[in-house]
Amino acid sequence: MNYLQFQKLFSAEEAIIAHYISIRYKEGIKCNHCNSDKVYQVKDRPKFFYCSHCINHFSVFKDTIFEHSSTDMRKWFYAIHLFLNGKKGISGCQLQREIDVTYKTAWRMLQQIRKAMGNKEVQQSFEAIVEIDETYVGGKPKKNFNKDNKNKRGRGTKKSPVVGVIDRQNKQVHAKVALPNKEGKKLTGKQLLSILNEVVKQSSIVMTDEFKSYNILSKTEHIHLKVDHTKEYVNGLIHTNNIESFWATLKRGIYGIYHSVSTKYLQNYVNEFCFRYNNRDVESMFDLLLLQSINI
Ligand SMILES: [Zn+2]
Repeated sequence: MNYLQFQKLFSAEEAIIAHYISIRYKEGIKCNHCNSDKVYQVKDRPKFFYCSHCINHFSVFKDTIFEHSSTDMRKWFYAIHLFLNGKKGISGCQLQREIDVTYKTAWRMLQQIRKAMGNKEVQQSFEAIVEIDETYVGGKPKKNFNKDNKNKRGRGTKKSPVVGVIDRQNKQVHAKVALPNKEGKKLTGKQLLSILNEVVKQSSIVMTDEFKSYNILSKTEHIHLKVDHTKEYVNGLIHTNNIESFWATLKRGIYGIYHSVSTKYLQNYVNEFCFRYNNRDVESMFDLLLLQSINI
């Protein structure tokens, strides 16, 4: 959708609410209290309905990212439009200028949109060949980092580890911020395996690098194939290039547009890049995002 199409469709708040209703209530609006379909739009307040059966009043935005916001829905829709159209998203400063809100409001809106991007049921749908890898994002490496730790890939730094799994055939990614466990250990075999098993079916072929925590895979039904990065990056079909290129996009995005991200919000940014990657061929990403903004 380009700007003109967007303007034409969503110039008035009524049109926005009507579009939203068509996405959320595909089978018609029902009362959220008694499920009756005898509901009527409140005059001059189009986002509210009342139920003639149980006299309940409700907002069509209940349980969504828009529910507690006093920002005009035209601004919300335009923010989502801008965010999805920019390949790498937009920053709070850019959004603040575009829709004329405070920086705090713009920043909050973007976090809510990212939350919706991650609002999807995770299923064990990855199969056949998958790649798993980990990377470090955000924060600053320790001082004298190179002296203390020769591992250039960041294991052992103060950055936050993110673990990612890619289904090579369907090109779907699942990525999670993996904070240290109770004993302060990072990226244990157990932690990696639990993230892997959230999305991967049993007995899949799992490609990893030589990182020792992946040795846990030998105790599972998965078939584990390793590439030794100290010697080579691609060994025929055994490589982790897809997940590594996802990391490159994620880091370019985060460092290029957002400059830095605190650990607290890192998962939201990871959700954003997973959503973009997984839905790159979806025709209406906009409507998909509206759908995922519900039940949050
Ligand atoms: Zn009712």
